[in-house]
Amino acid sequence: MDTRVSLRSLNPFISCFICNGYLIDATAITECLHTFCKSCIVKHLDSKKGNTCPKCDVVIHRSNPLQGIRLDRKMQDIVYKLVPNLQHREMLKEERFCRERKIPYEKNHALASRDRRMDDTKYQGKTIGAICEDRVCIQLETKTKDLKPLSKKYICCSSRTTVNHVKKLIAKKLFRDLEKYCSVDILCNDEILGKDHTLKFIYVTRWRCKEPPLKLYYQPRVDVLNFSHEV
Ligand SMILES: [Zn+2]
Ligand SMILES: [Zn+2]
Repeated sequence: MDTRVSLRSLNPFISCFICNGYLIDATAITECLHTFCKSCIVKHLDSKKGNTCPKCDVVIHRSNPLQGIRLDRKMQDIVYKLVPNLQHREMLKEERFCRERKIPYEKNHALASRDRRMDDTKYQGKTIGAICEDRVCIQLETKTKDLKPLSKKYICCSSRTTVNHVKKLIAKKLFRDLEKYCSVDILCNDEILGKDHTLKFIYVTRWRCKEPPLKLYYQPRVDVLNFSHEV
């Protein structure tokens, strides 16, 4: 009996639903086990519907979607074993990525971590590593003249610190009243951040390849601002 299977018949199982290419740095959503390329799913987390699986809409994680995804090395091994030359092509891409950005290319490292691709997501990983595994350094600036600048702008926090923690810190410093934390918004790249986002999540999704520290701005909460203008 001939047990050979055509690669085409396996394609749906080893391809990424987002980019339709073969899985690279296969990363599974732990809730539903749907698997995507790492760079594709991390980009998706940054989008509007970022907290749900692109395939089945299950909620990835309540507060930090990055905690709801895992690298799936076994799956990646299978993909590389099934698709001839894919791994080699990825290595050449990695080499070119480094050359273009003048990053030293570590061939041995690439061989050792043969199932990783040098793309923007991996580069972010390096940047985080450069600061420190569990800590993120932030710079807090005021966005408007309505609020005073902080005397101490640079703060090194745990990567699990949330936007709400940052709000409380600002309320304590500016108003000497923790309870007033609801009256400020925190922004990164002009976007108001959700209160449950962690600094690590913001760093990975909003500060791609930028130099640390992570720059955050604070301003009076938008509806509070409108209200005071009406009065
Ligand atoms: Zn993909
Ligand atoms: Zn799913």
